[in-house]
Amino acid sequence: MSGKESPVPLLKDGKRHDGRGPMDLRPIEMKIGILHNADGSAWLKIGKTEVVAAVYGPREPPMKGMVLPDRAVIRCRYHMAPFSTEERKNPAPSRREIELSKVIREALEATILTHLFPRTVIDVFVEVIQADGGTRTAAITAASLALADAGIPMRGLVAGVAVGKVQGKLVLDIDELEDMYGEADMPVAGIPTLNKIVLLQLNGVIEPHEFPQALKMAWEGIKKIHALQKKVLATKYGGEQ
Ligand code: ADP
Repeated sequence: MSGKESPVPLLKDGKRHDGRGPMDLRPIEMKIGILHNADGSAWLKIGKTEVVAAVYGPREPPMKGMVLPDRAVIRCRYHMAPFSTEERKNPAPSRREIELSKVIREALEATILTHLFPRTVIDVFVEVIQADGGTRTAAITAASLALADAGIPMRGLVAGVAVGKVQGKLVLDIDELEDMYGEADMPVAGIPTLNKIVLLQLNGVIEPHEFPQALKMAWEGIKKIHALQKKVLATKYGGEQ
């Protein structure tokens, strides 16, 4: 949404710049249990966007003051590695990263059964290894897998994807180019098994009549990503998740 013209056509003969159709997700790979030193972990690659999530806890907090008597406290850090972007990113947390850490935490709080672990802390760290659009939704999807890998009880797995608008048309799972030169970016995350949306944001401009369609497209994408999450968990732990 730079307002500038894209160096390549974002839509040509119904295809996007990378050959995808409007409803196609980028290729997705997921792994769990990739880190030795965390209680739970996950790696997710969607197109060129790549994230790692690590979960610690539930555990006693380093400082007594931060606990709650009736539930676990969730802490979340979303961070982009300096090497994740084309130009080296300043490693210090930016305002954007602080804001995204908060919205990701709130999305995860909707699913974690925090009341089962009073007086404890659950830490979620997400590191963006490579950024090419959709990092916040990739972060949520990976964090949810890492929480499951840590054995933390949840109401359901959370998955996320962004819908965008390019050259007047709604498209699923936008990459950085489509985000930068398109008209809108609408990240959505939800819990398909509960039929609940836990994150919804919109940058740019869409028309009110397009909104139901955009949400429907995001939900279709979320269901597909959720199916892959279940598959990767079943491969390690077996059974239906
Ligand atoms: P999201 O990654 O959730 O789509 P944004 O819409 O804010 O979040 O960012 C879109 C894309 O822009 C990111 O995925 C990344 O590829 C790029 N980007 C974001 N912040 C930076 C930054 N500080 N430096 C370089 N690229 C960035």
